[in-house]
Amino acid sequence: MRSSQFFMPTLRENPSEAQIVSHRLMLRAGMVRQASSGIYSWLPLGFKVLKKIEQIVREEQDRAGCQELLMPTIQSADLWRESGRYDDYGKEMLRITDRHDREMLYGPTNEELITEIFRNSAKSYRDVPKMLYHIQWKFRDEVRPRFGVMRGREFLMKDAYSFDLDAAGARRAYNKMFVSYLRTFARMGLQAIPMAADTGPIGGDLSHEFIILADTGESAVFCDRSFIERDVLSLDIDYDSDLEPLVKQWTTDYAATDEKHDAARFGALPKDRQVEARGIEVGHIFYFGTKYSEPLKAQVQTQDGQTISVHMGSYGIGVSRLVGAIIEASHDDKGIVWPESVAPFKVGLVNLKAGDAATTPMADDLYARLTRAGVEVLYDDRDVRAGEKFAQMDLIGLPYQVVIGPRGAAKGEVEFKTRKTGAVEEISAEAALNKLASRQGA
Ligand code: ATP
Ligand code: MG
Repeated sequence: MRSSQFFMPTLRENPSEAQIVSHRLMLRAGMVRQASSGIYSWLPLGFKVLKKIEQIVREEQDRAGCQELLMPTIQSADLWRESGRYDDYGKEMLRITDRHDREMLYGPTNEELITEIFRNSAKSYRDVPKMLYHIQWKFRDEVRPRFGVMRGREFLMKDAYSFDLDAAGARRAYNKMFVSYLRTFARMGLQAIPMAADTGPIGGDLSHEFIILADTGESAVFCDRSFIERDVLSLDIDYDSDLEPLVKQWTTDYAATDEKHDAARFGALPKDRQVEARGIEVGHIFYFGTKYSEPLKAQVQTQDGQTISVHMGSYGIGVSRLVGAIIEASHDDKGIVWPESVAPFKVGLVNLKAGDAATTPMADDLYARLTRAGVEVLYDDRDVRAGEKFAQMDLIGLPYQVVIGPRGAAKGEVEFKTRKTGAVEEISAEAALNKLASRQGA
């Protein structure tokens, strides 16, 4: 993509409405624009990141054995009356009436609808276990939408649902999601910490929030540093094996949000392992037994002929919130620093002197070859000041920058910069191409 053609309306000044760094940087980099309170349009640069995050979430759901489907955003109020939640949900639910005076709603979540889909087809124990998910926009009329896409009213969520014969089966599904969540966030360069969350009336220990540490997080969190240092991507996980020991191992250390904080237990940890921080909730998994299957009559016959209500769990990830959360976790005073896996482009190619007889053919040629090699590149071919080009590249935070100026061009060299470290090397265009092409998919 050539910058001269790309729709990326960046801002030089800090927008006054943005209170936190991710919101500020997303507006300044031209990733999103507010359409109305808590509702955003995703411009090309932001949309690319959103899609990459969505794709990582999808791959890890699929890997764990979850099957993708797509439910609508608009649902019927009648279904929510069956579960009793139509009246309980309160003002967060956006209620709509259609031309025939039928009551509808914009889904804040999908337990009812997925349970209906399941009950209409499942008959016997052979129809379980099943794990189904979709990635779809939700609407919650939050009292205080704020922090840009981090607490919006319309937001993109991955929500998965599991169906099992009994609590033991549901626990197996829960463990799969638990492990897959750690992998998902790790692939985005995030250290997400599972923290025991309130399970409400069902009790048990089967609810975890996945929290990443960031100063601007909405919740206060307390955890054991040894937990943060776990490497979850190096393991080759067999989702059909018993994951219980792994999940135990990854949860035994102390980790709690302020609601569940136990000062005495935390205080017993060695001082240098006590981490007191703020956190952002990026995912939430939950076992809720027969809470929806009972009222909605999602039942199957067991092998010995009994009719039972299936045991269910639900598993959410805030896909659009993650765009902001990743920026909160990864930026510096110049702008965003994207982890390679979610970066909108892998490299920014800068021609320092557009129209120059030496730099321009060299930059054009490298652009063509990078594109042919399948490397996603944003080519700044504009005729603007060098300082402006550098500032914009740093702001949008692509992992690598390749700068071609008259001095280097004379020697056939480019400047190869790694955004995260700021390290710069002078190498041949050929070497830059090789570095970028070989890092593909890394
Ligand atoms: P929160 O406590 O932040 O309000 P929640 O517990 O109500 O979230 P869940 O119902 O667990 O949210 O939804 C699953 C995920 O969806 C959350 O972990 C979060 O990442 C994301 N999410 C929830 N509400 C919003 C929102 N208003 N804007 C963006 N993402 C959201
Ligand atoms: Mg939650």
